[in-house]
Amino acid sequence: MTTSIMPTYNRAAITFTHGEGAWLWDKNNQRYLDAIAGIGVCNLGHAHPKIHAAICQQSEQLLHTSNLYTIVAQEQLADSLISKSGMTNVFFSNSGAEANEAAIKIARAYGHQNGIENPLIIVMLHSFHGRTMATLSATGNPKVKQGFAPLVSGFLQISFNDTDAIEAAIAQNSNCVAVLLEPIQGEGGVNIPAPDYLTKVRAICDQHKILMMLDEIQTGVGRTGEFLAYQHQKIIPDVCTMAKALANGVPIGACLAHNAAASVLTAGMHGSTFGGNPLACSAALAVLNTLEQENIIAKVAAKGAYICQQIQEKLSNNQHVLNIRHQGLMIGIDLSVSCTELVAIAAAKGLLINVTNDKTIRLLPPLIINSAQMDFLVATLSALIQKHTQNLATT
Ligand SMILES: *Cc1c(COP(=O)(O)O)cnc(C)c1O
Repeated sequence: MTTSIMPTYNRAAITFTHGEGAWLWDKNNQRYLDAIAGIGVCNLGHAHPKIHAAICQQSEQLLHTSNLYTIVAQEQLADSLISKSGMTNVFFSNSGAEANEAAIKIARAYGHQNGIENPLIIVMLHSFHGRTMATLSATGNPKVKQGFAPLVSGFLQISFNDTDAIEAAIAQNSNCVAVLLEPIQGEGGVNIPAPDYLTKVRAICDQHKILMMLDEIQTGVGRTGEFLAYQHQKIIPDVCTMAKALANGVPIGACLAHNAAASVLTAGMHGSTFGGNPLACSAALAVLNTLEQENIIAKVAAKGAYICQQIQEKLSNNQHVLNIRHQGLMIGIDLSVSCTELVAIAAAKGLLINVTNDKTIRLLPPLIINSAQMDFLVATLSALIQKHTQNLATT
């Protein structure tokens, strides 16, 4: 246990030394199935040979030059993201929070350009947008804000999955410039909105000429069965942020903008030393190429459905299992009881999972998870949930 690191994390006493695909090994050579993928980051699994090769090759040539110069890998990555997303252009950062900072700056500048001096951004309860001052202020979780007042102003929190609340907020505040939301709330408990929610949000934003800004940091890069979650609908947002799985573990963030929103930030208005550097962009390009070459995203919906249906079958008689839901391989299982201790119990059985909101088991397995690994996940987790809820029923 090191004491030199700031105690900002509650860490498990597990140290991984290497991985391969969906598996990780610790320093005692114990094997674990990684069903959380570094919090939705390693979508192609660990030690993917194509990502490894791209990183090696790029580091032989150049790691960094700064954005004072043209970066070929950055241009190529932007082209690829634009063609996959239908958006217009991209700003690259190093993390999700920074991608959202760019989105927030676009919204405010868009407001000012339209004569709104005190722009207001509508955000959602139970959302998560990051840990910088602006993004924690936008986040709909009081724990994330606790102790950091004064917060950044200019955010109005309303209920998720409630288009009437958006209409009411706009009606009551003439300074609304944007709505910022996750297509599925991840940290907030895998909250999946009604199927027509995003389409309705798009229509409201069009009607009132405000920006629809989607935080796809967790839902993007194939997690839900489309490259971006909004692609399940026939809509394009004005702004879309990405990070987590974009370079399979090399830090990168991206803020994609569409049409009018794409020309809001001009020279000198935003920047980053590392953002879009050759190493991160080469890794991300390898991720996008691999997703395509191995046809990975097309299989995500069926994999998610298989896992959920199997768990459902095994736990159908357990009244403590309240709900099992998923879109693609973004999976939430609500129990009627607290289950945070299941994380450590599962790890001891060789399975890495996550619990959000105290009672929701969250699974974000790598998209490359295979049948045998899915069966191990289902069998191990179902048995643990059964045991956990049995114990509680009898005590
Ligand atoms: C993880 C996450 C962020 C923050 O990303 P960082 O890279 O940790 O800054 C923002 N929004 C969502 C939806 C996330 O899941």
